[in-house]
Amino acid sequence: MSNAMRQEENQTKATLGGKMLTGQQAVVTGGTRGIGLGIARVLNKHGAKTAITGLNDVNPKPYEDEGLHFFQMDVSDGNSVRNTVSEIADTLGGLSIAVCNAGIFPQIAIEDQSDDDFDDIVNVNLRGTSNVVRAALPHLKSAPVASVIFTSSITGSYVGYPGWALYGATKAAQLGYMRSAALELAPHKITVNAVLPGNVLTESLADLGEEYLGQMSRSVPLGYLGSTEDIGEAVAFFGSNRSRYITGQDLILDGGQILPETQEALEMIQAE
Ligand code: NAP
Repeated sequence: MSNAMRQEENQTKATLGGKMLTGQQAVVTGGTRGIGLGIARVLNKHGAKTAITGLNDVNPKPYEDEGLHFFQMDVSDGNSVRNTVSEIADTLGGLSIAVCNAGIFPQIAIEDQSDDDFDDIVNVNLRGTSNVVRAALPHLKSAPVASVIFTSSITGSYVGYPGWALYGATKAAQLGYMRSAALELAPHKITVNAVLPGNVLTESLADLGEEYLGQMSRSVPLGYLGSTEDIGEAVAFFGSNRSRYITGQDLILDGGQILPETQEALEMIQAE
């Protein structure tokens, strides 16, 4: 039996015998709160040893109590990312799932944007994604099953919103990066996919106010905002052997938000 077949059989046994991600090690950037924390909790629940990273150095105890390992790093700083990702792989005993989730989404009208705004958004959302993939790659290459998952967005990739031109551009750029990365890493059996949340109820989204939240819920055909766990379950699938034949794909998780062809189509189902 070839090495590849043996690794595959071991992975299948692990999946059948235990949880979906038993034997795997994951890092989730921007995992201290919001969608990233939801993703990390779900990966951990499915059996992956999971590390989270955040920009600010915080008390790790609450995360450790949940079984998560906390590391501080700025994703826009290549050196910091390289060192921290190595430290994470050492701590977890390898790395098989890299979730590039850290992101910022300031809402700034084009006329008000400064050069610094451009640099900040691009450096965190796009340079950060590239930094994490490059740092994770040597570790992913030695894992029997490995995957990279991006948290992109429907904003920019499929739809637009005033004030989010720069943000949307970086989220669409992640998908452009993903397609070539998926091809390049295919020979190493590393899959690269993206989840595209619609409006997910996080503290940051709640900060946008009741009016925004109400307007957003009403624009979702399923009638409610997504939870961070909804996103986590999709990431867990992309990280597992169950999706081993899927690469270079983006999956929209938006409760049907971008489906209605016209405002009338939405109003018709709301009237029911
Ligand atoms: P969030 O609640 O604002 O959390 C952002 C996370 O990213 C925090 O852990 C933060 O760390 C970290 N972070 C920020 N800047 C960083 C940097 N320079 N280096 C390292 N970590 C950094 O965000 P969220 O709403 O969960 O969004 C997470 C991802 O989902 C983003 O990529 C966003 O584009 C995408 N998304 C969100 C929604 C939504 O509805 N919320 C919809 C579509 C897509 P600290 O806690 O230390 O600041």
